[in-house]
Amino acid sequence: MSDQNVQISFDGMPEKLFSCTPYRLETWLDCPKKYRYTYIDIPKPPRGGPWGHTSMGSAVHNALREWFTLPQEQRTDEKGAELVVKHWRSEGFRDDEQSERYRFRAQQWVRQYLTGVNPNDEPRGLERTVSATTERLSLSGRVDRIDERDGELVIVDYKTGKRPPDEIEAGGSLALAIYAIGAERTLRKKCRTVELHHLPSDTKAVYRHDEASLARHVQRAERIAAEALAATSQGRFTATPGALCGYCDYARICTDADREPAQPWAGLDENS
Ligand code: SF4
Repeated sequence: MSDQNVQISFDGMPEKLFSCTPYRLETWLDCPKKYRYTYIDIPKPPRGGPWGHTSMGSAVHNALREWFTLPQEQRTDEKGAELVVKHWRSEGFRDDEQSERYRFRAQQWVRQYLTGVNPNDEPRGLERTVSATTERLSLSGRVDRIDERDGELVIVDYKTGKRPPDEIEAGGSLALAIYAIGAERTLRKKCRTVELHHLPSDTKAVYRHDEASLARHVQRAERIAAEALAATSQGRFTATPGALCGYCDYARICTDADREPAQPWAGLDENS
């Protein structure tokens, strides 16, 4: 076991900052054993195969990223649907029929979403890595899109899951808060608003942070990191089996998994 990011301190010297992403901290909260598999073990243990819902989400994200890089006159709804086909991968689907059915659905999502996007707007960032340091952490993360509106930056995160998120979820998201702090530090412009754009329902969950709510997220990140670091130094990664085991990439090798791994296509919404 090793942790390249572990904190080191020497007498009289400042402690090294712990480098982490929101995803790393969320993985610790999901299950410390999954955290060990993902970030500590060397060599890396084998992961399960690709998921259908992940393939679908990647195609949508990639299509929207590329769409904004096109000359403005080419940014049409139909072009967005074409880009879904360009970025489509069939991994994780039951068969070709299912893959094609979901590709068609993803094209509809993107086409509909783009009807509400002004092709003349230029984002400040696309899949942009942003970072910020706190007293104890060096935080970084990659943001789907950063807009600039009314003199402020706005964090945009695309969602393709089954359930539309709400304002409480947007405000409670550690990742979005860290992105806002990182975008402000990296691009040197105020950033308080975070948005979850849910493609399947074509809805947006919007939350406006203030200094206090961002500070609470930083404190939370520092608490989670401190817990993960202390456990790592003691080699203590207690599994917390539950519903997540079905969709855990390590369920096939984990002796603590409390259920069989889900089928790769189980995360797709067959009811909509
Ligand atoms: S299978 Fe379950 S218990 Fe095992 S690492 Fe994954 S989430 Fe944790």
